[in-house]
Amino acid sequence: MSISYAIGWLKNFVCGDDMKQLLENLIQGFQGEFLRQEPMSAHTSWQLGGPAEIFLIPQNREDLQLALRGIHQLRLPWLVLGNGSNLLVSDQGFHGVVLQLKNLSRIDLLPGGKLEVEAGVQLGDLIRRCCQQGLGGLEELSGIPGSIGGALLMNAGALNTEIGNLVNQISLTDGLGEWVLRREQIDFSYRFSGFDQKDVIQSAILKLEEVDPVELETRRQLVLTRRRQVQKVTGAHAGSVFKNPSGESAWKLIEQAGMRGQQRGRALVSPEHCNHIVNLGGASAEDVMTLIKAVQQAVFLNAGQQLELEVRMVGWEDEG
Ligand SMILES: Cc1cc2nc3c(=O)[nH]c(=O)nc-3n(C[C@H](O)[C@H](O)[C@H](O)COP(=O)(O)OP(=O)(O)OC[C@H]3O[C@@H](n4cnc5c(N)ncnc54)[C@H](O)[C@@H]3O)c2cc1C
Repeated sequence: MSISYAIGWLKNFVCGDDMKQLLENLIQGFQGEFLRQEPMSAHTSWQLGGPAEIFLIPQNREDLQLALRGIHQLRLPWLVLGNGSNLLVSDQGFHGVVLQLKNLSRIDLLPGGKLEVEAGVQLGDLIRRCCQQGLGGLEELSGIPGSIGGALLMNAGALNTEIGNLVNQISLTDGLGEWVLRREQIDFSYRFSGFDQKDVIQSAILKLEEVDPVELETRRQLVLTRRRQVQKVTGAHAGSVFKNPSGESAWKLIEQAGMRGQQRGRALVSPEHCNHIVNLGGASAEDVMTLIKAVQQAVFLNAGQQLELEVRMVGWEDEG
């Protein structure tokens, strides 16, 4: 029996405490935080989700790689968490290791309108800093509550900007090695980046344009004001639940199917923006999932369109 096979076999029999102990032993020297049974509801914008069996907050890139090596050796399920603003975590939580990268927070200005930014930086903080430095291109993404890692993975976009279009290169790791992908090697499209879920985005170099800082700050404020006016959604949510089908708006299809304002348990299709589902307070992830399925079914019956999820599923039996 090979060692890796034996570990896989053993893993089926280890409970949470054993898993934690094995991992702690393997990643001695880990400087970050090592938490157990951490409620994911505290880390998602929907304020939903049961506990993560193990929740690691690496202190730096070396810590991240150390953790990934341990996770691979034990063949544990794992997930990278950004700001949790695009995740529906099940009520059962995640039986594995969640890696939260908030401490990867460096921004380095480079010559020629470029900058290198680590995955844990808040998109909003980066945009504010870029405006001060006279680096333009990201302003239309103001108000998206993601981290850089999450924004790159999702190819976050708003108005006429998608973050993928500003990427020069991305640094990735799987714990065993580190490598760099240039823009032309990355398959960015609408809310899609093509990254393998086995790889972690550590940082990116973005190419921006030099613009007067006052003009940039004015643009940033305009975008934020417009967002406040257009997206008056009350309650905890995760932005757009469904992708827009080619040439159509998901919200229109949902409205035409009569689902605006529909409620299941404590989850509500927002009356203000019907591609958003709101946690009215006390919703379960199951309430949201039931409502998602009801919306998909209604739209399919009404318009023959299969709405595809923009939000990511975590801890569900069928994450597709
Ligand atoms: C109020 C609100 C408004 C929003 N508006 C918009 C909008 O206008 N446009 C838009 O595109 N989105 C929008 N969103 C959705 C969401 O903010 C974006 O998708 C955002 O980019 C997700 O970033 P995150 O850090 O929260 O990622 P998370 O939700 O934490 O994770 C999303 C995915 O990225 C993966 N991931 C995160 N970090 C890494 C990493 N370092 N390496 C590899 N994988 C990683 C996760 O595993 C997961 O699969 C909105 C959400 C809310 C709540």
